[in-house]
Amino acid sequence: MSESAEKPAVHNFIRNIIDGDNASQKWGGRVATRFPPEPNGYLHYGHAKSICLNFGLARDYGGACHMRFDDTNPEKEEQEYVDSILEAVRWLGFDWGEHQYYASDYFDRLYLFAEYLIEHGLAYVDSQNADQIRARRGNLTEPGQDSPYRNRTPDENLELFRRMKAGEFPDGTHVLRARIDMASPNLNLRDPVIYRIRHAEHHRTGNTWCIYPLYDYTHCISDALERVTHSICTLEFEDHRPLYDWVLDQLQPLIHWHPQQIEFARLNLTYVVLSKRKLIQLVESGTVSGWDDPRLPTLAGARRRGFTAAGFRLFTDRIGVSKSDTWIDMAVLEECMREDLNLAAQRRIAVLDPIRLVLDNYPQEQREECLAPNHPLHSEAGKRPVGLTRELWIEREDYQETPAKGFFRLYPGNRVRLRYAYVIECTGADYDAQGNLLCVHANLLPDTKSGTPGADSVKVKGNIHWLSINEAIEAEVRLYDRLFRVPHPGTSQDFMLDINPESLRVVQARLEPALAQALPEDRYQFERHGYFVADRRDHNPQQPVFNRTVGLKDTWVKTT
Ligand code: ATP
Ligand code: MG
Repeated sequence: MSESAEKPAVHNFIRNIIDGDNASQKWGGRVATRFPPEPNGYLHYGHAKSICLNFGLARDYGGACHMRFDDTNPEKEEQEYVDSILEAVRWLGFDWGEHQYYASDYFDRLYLFAEYLIEHGLAYVDSQNADQIRARRGNLTEPGQDSPYRNRTPDENLELFRRMKAGEFPDGTHVLRARIDMASPNLNLRDPVIYRIRHAEHHRTGNTWCIYPLYDYTHCISDALERVTHSICTLEFEDHRPLYDWVLDQLQPLIHWHPQQIEFARLNLTYVVLSKRKLIQLVESGTVSGWDDPRLPTLAGARRRGFTAAGFRLFTDRIGVSKSDTWIDMAVLEECMREDLNLAAQRRIAVLDPIRLVLDNYPQEQREECLAPNHPLHSEAGKRPVGLTRELWIEREDYQETPAKGFFRLYPGNRVRLRYAYVIECTGADYDAQGNLLCVHANLLPDTKSGTPGADSVKVKGNIHWLSINEAIEAEVRLYDRLFRVPHPGTSQDFMLDINPESLRVVQARLEPALAQALPEDRYQFERHGYFVADRRDHNPQQPVFNRTVGLKDTWVKTT
């Protein structure tokens, strides 16, 4: 059912490029894309855009999308991250089939290609340290200066590079650089470093290597070795494209394949931070409970929050793909989740802030069943019985002793409908010595039961939900809200100070008894409250735990 909010793919400039390529048979009609995360953190909402784009293209054009780990950085990478990334992509509904790769699979070949570049005078070993290299790099207005080691002979370079590989030198003493142009207006072409020495254990290759290739060198070669056709990346790589092309042009005699790099604008979303560095800070400082804290904009957090994969796919289609860097309001993502959940989630009743309501004219021992539809848009989902008894739980906010203007719910003398049941008339309330509300009283109007001929004989403006005190179960309900209270965290102060102190409120609620049987990750609309999900980690029939995914309406709309 959750798929029904999805529409056919929306056209965008990348699809136009592919259509053109297919028309001209540039790639023989093939489409191969890839999603290339670095396994140094959990995936976030921004990655969902890239995943839906790359896997969506492969799906729609009958091609393949490769799952590739860009694991060239031995220090920061961990198996836990690899596992979480695979789980997140699968959860979003995509499948890479047999195409799971690691850049580290190519370390041998990357090394041989580097020797080839050296032999052809296209790369050299530089023995300057990082500061010296930086000092000679120049800037946007000044050209760089050649390294004193730039004219080493291929033989000399080859010998040094092999000794680097053999572990003869400590970290930072030598690097391998592409020999391009120190005066290029594009700084990425000023003899970029392509290998460095790192005596560090790698999560897959262990201690086999003590030299590691850099991203720009590795990425294009990995794409080409995998016969990727369209290498889609975010705009910050636009300036790296000439280097992508340079490397593959030089290696053309060996690899015979040259994918097209295409850049698109990354997702910028308000009220969150989408950078692994900041997410790690939130996790490590204990500001959130872990990588899957429902407030964190990780896909693991989104899943635990109750966001749906179909909602993310809908969101990606709706925001589109372009080259212009814009901000998307969090409300757009939340609305996509509501749209999907509205179709997918059955309705249930929950009282989040319970206060007792006594129907004084209803006999103590009496009980009757009222029928509540499981889904107003899907009558085939049927109705379920909800037991009505003399004492009920209602929301505290549904009673006001002295009604504010426009308040149509319970106050002395007013009538409301108990949803799916009878009209009642409020007669007053009891308070304790401190003036705290203890209990609301009302009388039931016979012959007004919903679904019976007399139901509409009494007109009321208010309609409230309720649960029988004898039958409702207790549950922990976690009311999640946005993690940051400002649209652009970190703009005027440290982003950690922009945390929304009300991003989580935990209440002891009362629920329909059947909700104890909900399975982890089952989603419901709690009527009048919003969408909720049974927590994947903590929910069980003895101690039900539900998370608020999103309210029914946007409460963050600007009022100024
Ligand atoms: P971060 O900046 O959060 O650390 P990253 O770009 O370093 O992210 P990678 O693991 O390198 O993370 O990203 C994998 C892929 O996801 C890349 O192709 C990258 O372009 C894409 N991606 C990352 N962030 C976004 C985003 N906000 N919107 C769209 N695509 C993104
Ligand atoms: Mg990156």
